[in-house]
Amino acid sequence: MSPNLAHPSRRPERLLILGSGLTVLLIVIIVTALLIREHANTLQTAKRTANNITQLIDADVLRNVELYDMSVKGLIAATERNDLQGVSASIRHLVLFDRSAAAPYKGDILLLDANGQVIADSALLTPATGNFADRDYFQVHRQNPEAGLYISRPFFARCVCEDPWRIAFSRRVSAADGRFQGVAVASMRLSYFHQLFSSLNIGSNSTINLINHQGILLAQQPLLEADMVDKDLSQRPNVARMLRERDGSFESLSSVDGQARLYSFSNVGDLPLVVVVALSSDEIFASWRRAAWLVSIATGVLCIGLLWLTWMLCMELRRRRRAEQVLSELAATDPLTGLANRRVLDERLRLEWDRAQRSAEPLTLLMIDVDHFKAFNDRHGHHGGDEALRTVAEVIGANIRRPADLAARYGGEEFAVVLPHTDAKGALVIAEHIRSAVEHLPRVAGDERPITVSIGMSTWDKRSRMSLEALLLSADQALYEAKHTGRNRIVEAQPL
Ligand code: GH3
Ligand code: MG
Ligand code: MG
Repeated sequence: MSPNLAHPSRRPERLLILGSGLTVLLIVIIVTALLIREHANTLQTAKRTANNITQLIDADVLRNVELYDMSVKGLIAATERNDLQGVSASIRHLVLFDRSAAAPYKGDILLLDANGQVIADSALLTPATGNFADRDYFQVHRQNPEAGLYISRPFFARCVCEDPWRIAFSRRVSAADGRFQGVAVASMRLSYFHQLFSSLNIGSNSTINLINHQGILLAQQPLLEADMVDKDLSQRPNVARMLRERDGSFESLSSVDGQARLYSFSNVGDLPLVVVVALSSDEIFASWRRAAWLVSIATGVLCIGLLWLTWMLCMELRRRRRAEQVLSELAATDPLTGLANRRVLDERLRLEWDRAQRSAEPLTLLMIDVDHFKAFNDRHGHHGGDEALRTVAEVIGANIRRPADLAARYGGEEFAVVLPHTDAKGALVIAEHIRSAVEHLPRVAGDERPITVSIGMSTWDKRSRMSLEALLLSADQALYEAKHTGRNRIVEAQPL
């Protein structure tokens, strides 16, 4: 039967849990935001790198194609000169091919007549017989006078050579009236692209590609599949998109090996060529992924550590709160009877007194004293006396019901009961219950006389003008009167 004490608040623990929960959330949000930003930066850097590579290749290819075009144009210009009829074959050869010297990876430069027959060859003074009417460039120029500089599909040179893959740059040779007179064509070894591409370090799982506007692959470094050159890739979704957009970049899965890649592509000048740099996403994000793992693990450990510390702290706080609660209960409890002690009685009485003054609700105080207790002690010894006091305390405690009521040990064999919101009539009922319950307690073995109590009772209500001290004094006086008028009775103090 512990005195009615307020439970200490759990607010500090709740604040601690909320605080560390929010801190963990904040850490996770900040780390996630940083990782997302770093991911975007990595992608941006990769795009810039890929873009620089495409620009480099663009410039190199464009310059080369211009050189080839110059050779072809020079050849055509030379064929239009009438003054070459009378000169020797070697001088004529020199004039025809004088602009072709600078082109790297040069194959043959040929002049074909309207039937595709070779009529001049940069490699031979007297051209070998050969017919190239079946080549795509020949057919394009024959059918289309407006074809301009035509870049052929890759083809196999008709030579026994190490490096037979070629592409050709060609222009139509027209008569003054526009009639088709043949084709001037310069071929280039595809190894030029391979050399150019492999000089750029882009990582092992990435590729550089050159495709024409029909989606034919002209070059790829490194080759993802054997026999890729001259393949029509226009049906592949990534290639179709690049041919449509001509310039830009996007991330997508490769239809060849299913790997994620960043495709950066750009049209080579005005030529019908698109250079594509496909960087492996795995390689782009490899270091980001490593950093992300490390940061995530460190953050996880930090957050778990923080939550663990919070939990430990909460446990400690709870342990202390319980210890404090036990201590404060001990400090407020009378050790013999378990009722509130005199200190709590004084505090509560003052509190309820002030409340009663504010609310004008009545307040009653009972002073209870065990009758002839000295004699009881003499008969049953101190131990028996203590036992009797405990029993009387239990009876008193059992007869007060409301949470605001308080039973306390006033001192010795004297008790006090504070009954807020209780007028004299109501208090009299409670006092009578206590008096009668004590009287009817089972007799102590070998004792004929029952234990009885005398009760002095005093009530403050809004009509009375007494102070708290007067309330205490009048209750005491009423108790005194109860003793002198025969004991085992209740005496109500006269209202002041
Ligand atoms: P009255 O009816 O006039 O109150 O007579 P009384 O004998 O009860 O009054 P008195 O004040 O003369 O004696 C009170 C006795 O209560 C004295 C003391 O031995 C006993 N007492 C006080 N506190 C305790 C206690 O904690 N334990 C025990 N066993 N006895 C106590
Ligand atoms: Mg007594
Ligand atoms: Mg007494």
